[in-house]
Amino acid sequence: MDFELTDEQKARRKEFFDICRELEKKKPPNLVGLETIYDHDECWEFHLHCAKQFAQKGWLSLAWPPEYGGTGNMMDRVLFAEARGYHGIPGVDVFGVGMLAPTLIQAGNEEVKKEFLPPIARAEIMWCELWSEPNAGSDLAALSTTAIRRGDEYIINGQKTWNTGAHRADWGFGVFKTDLTARKHHNLTFILLDMKTPGITVKPIPYMDGGRPFCEVYFDDVRVPAKNIVGQENEGWAVVNTLAGFERSSLTEIMSLVRALEDLVKFCNETKRNGQPLSKDPVIRNRIAQLACELEAARALAYRVADLQNRNEMALMDASAVKIFSSELAERFVFTVTDILGPYGQVKLSRWAPMGGAWEKMYQGCFVTTISMGTNEIQRNIIAWYGLGLPRMK
Ligand SMILES: Cc1cc2nc3c(=O)[nH]c(=O)nc-3n(C[C@H](O)[C@H](O)[C@H](O)COP(=O)(O)OP(=O)(O)OC[C@H]3O[C@@H](n4cnc5c(N)ncnc54)[C@H](O)[C@@H]3O)c2cc1C
Repeated sequence: MDFELTDEQKARRKEFFDICRELEKKKPPNLVGLETIYDHDECWEFHLHCAKQFAQKGWLSLAWPPEYGGTGNMMDRVLFAEARGYHGIPGVDVFGVGMLAPTLIQAGNEEVKKEFLPPIARAEIMWCELWSEPNAGSDLAALSTTAIRRGDEYIINGQKTWNTGAHRADWGFGVFKTDLTARKHHNLTFILLDMKTPGITVKPIPYMDGGRPFCEVYFDDVRVPAKNIVGQENEGWAVVNTLAGFERSSLTEIMSLVRALEDLVKFCNETKRNGQPLSKDPVIRNRIAQLACELEAARALAYRVADLQNRNEMALMDASAVKIFSSELAERFVFTVTDILGPYGQVKLSRWAPMGGAWEKMYQGCFVTTISMGTNEIQRNIIAWYGLGLPRMK
């Protein structure tokens, strides 16, 4: 098997890395981890600035069919994600570009594709995901927010929660109960809605560290045009599963760890403890080498999923496997780094904080991707049930 890039791919890769390297020079200092774009105005502005630049180059519609403004191919998308992850550059709306667009291409009707894909490619509309509810997370199909059809509209009532960036988003995609009598999984519809519609109230949820990336969203007689559905009425569960596959297979986080590993190696070479560079400590060397091995495995898994997506052959369990492995690797990675940095590695606003205090934020947030996008316990259930044919647990 030949893993070498072609000359054309190498040139494309260089183009992506060159632009992202330049953008990194303008990155706000408090942009640590891509989730902080939702926290601070200057990070959000930087996200929009990068998005516009990428849109002009056609990089938000990589591997889309040409009739919807698509450019490039799947390998371009992989190389672009690598460049952004490595340089920690936002500018790609994870919800609009990363999840909704490929879902619309696969499951939307022509009208919906023509209306919603071009503004995503042009970075005109930013999206949020309106799925979880106070009593429906892992068991999402148990949700209770209703969307009742009245003529050519749905009337939505209820509450969603943990909606990342809902206070910044222009539009949201959600899943709602549209049939009050049908059985579970056959009563849900996938609906697109303008977040400025009257009756929607968005309340950010404050973090202990002052950040506010998530929100609660309340719906009070919210009227949405009936044409804004993806797939068929009451068949939204299939659309949810399609989108979840795209959500769980991102390469960006893995590439951010590649850069973090390089930074860690540099730090260990340049920092002495007890008169010796950290890089000569056999335990530290051993732990860094272990991370490097696991990172290569994560990258290979993500490449495999990208290839399967390209061929429309991705199964639910493939995305689940990448999600479990990369999120747990990110956790192990942060624990290892903070062990190596010592107690000052866990503070940020101190001149003693190594590596600019960046690892304090990473430490506090490293577990979140084991929960978001469906917890890792649920991903293991998916692999056991769908992938390996083990019996489903009641
Ligand atoms: C960082 C972050 C971002 C998020 N962003 C969004 C967003 O943008 N939009 C959105 O709609 N939601 C979002 N969420 C919500 C996320 O999807 C839910 O938190 C997740 O699905 C888990 O649901 P829950 O919190 O209700 O936990 P619960 O479902 O109550 O689970 C509690 C615990 O029980 C375990 N458990 C539950 N059922 C089973 C089972 N059958 N087998 C084994 N273990 C089980 C779970 O694994 C977990 O450990 C986000 C969450 C986080 C952490």
